[in-house]
Amino acid sequence: MEFSTHAHEQLIHRQDPASGLRAVIAIHSTRLGPAAGGCRHWVYENTEAAVCDALRLAEGMTYKNALADIPFGGGKSVILGQPEQPLSQRQLEVFGSWIEELNGAYITAEDVGMRVADMRLIARKTRFVSGLGLAGVGGDPSPSTALGVYNGMVTAVRRKFAVDELHGLRVAVQGLGNVGLSLCELLARAGARLVVADLNPDRVAEVVSRFGAQSCASEEILQQDVEVIAPCALGSVLTAASVAQLSAGVVAGSANNQLASPEVADLLFARGILYAPDYVINAGGVISIAHEYLGKNDSSWVAERINGIGSRLRRIFAESESAQCSTESVARGLADDRIAQGRRAELRGVA
Ligand code: NAD
Repeated sequence: MEFSTHAHEQLIHRQDPASGLRAVIAIHSTRLGPAAGGCRHWVYENTEAAVCDALRLAEGMTYKNALADIPFGGGKSVILGQPEQPLSQRQLEVFGSWIEELNGAYITAEDVGMRVADMRLIARKTRFVSGLGLAGVGGDPSPSTALGVYNGMVTAVRRKFAVDELHGLRVAVQGLGNVGLSLCELLARAGARLVVADLNPDRVAEVVSRFGAQSCASEEILQQDVEVIAPCALGSVLTAASVAQLSAGVVAGSANNQLASPEVADLLFARGILYAPDYVINAGGVISIAHEYLGKNDSSWVAERINGIGSRLRRIFAESESAQCSTESVARGLADDRIAQGRRAELRGVA
């Protein structure tokens, strides 16, 4: 199994010395439509790390959008941040003008380190942005992502533990940002017992006090004695070493690129740990983004597709068991089939 079967179509590195903005935009595939995927604002060790992140994230978006049944290809952008420095209005506008110059090949939205207010500043310079939340439609995609993860987790525990609900199950949530916090709310409401960690102690304190969660050190969250691990921070947390130490039976979380390398999927399978492929379970956000961008204004369109996450996972889990291969390789096969069909949707103003 390989992550890079399809070569990227475009890789763009731009800088604007006047504002100090540097960004990488990766367009993996436009076969099913314009490449859609969020913009991440992060402090990277170096340019290479930013490029690698953009390339991997863009590829994941191709599979995510294909399986979520939305008319988009895959792309992603990253802005190379400076420690403790928020993006300025000028920088966000410059970024928007770069997106506009791509003339619809790439549609941006919110990812780690960005907010709805940033999207609105980007939108001053480009039409090709979503997640603006104007007129009460769309906006922050995180609650939709969390809902999809929650539905997917219910499907996974049903398969793994033959239980119909999360009540009483122990769930460890890594990362209490936009998605992690919404997910904790859903899990607490369902009666799950939460163990949580975040690098930001204020976020931990909030979840402990609001939902009665237990907390642990960030470096210990994956080894907690729980039924489910929900990685909701950054990628590459599932390595050969961390998988060997997992006691959970299910991994189901929002983080993109959870697998540090493709072989880790096989290790999870060999250990009997049911892994919900990240780009399948975390598609709720891009579904909300697509709904807003396409001007659907039809909440059943979103609900239908978010509910589809559970049925898609059911199929992936069943095929993984019958073919005796990892859930990741089944999901990739389904995405590749969908991409090969090459169905191209008509989008407003985009060829
Ligand atoms: P966020 O920036 O709001 O939150 C991330 C949180 O993770 C922060 O609180 C951060 O302090 C914490 N964190 C980082 N490293 C950590 C570590 N080692 N241990 C514990 N906590 C750590 O981001 P978000 O929007 O909640 O997204 C979370 C993940 O889900 C990301 O991987 C993102 O790409 C993915 N995702 C998000 C969406 C969405 O709708 N926001 C959609 C799909 C996928």
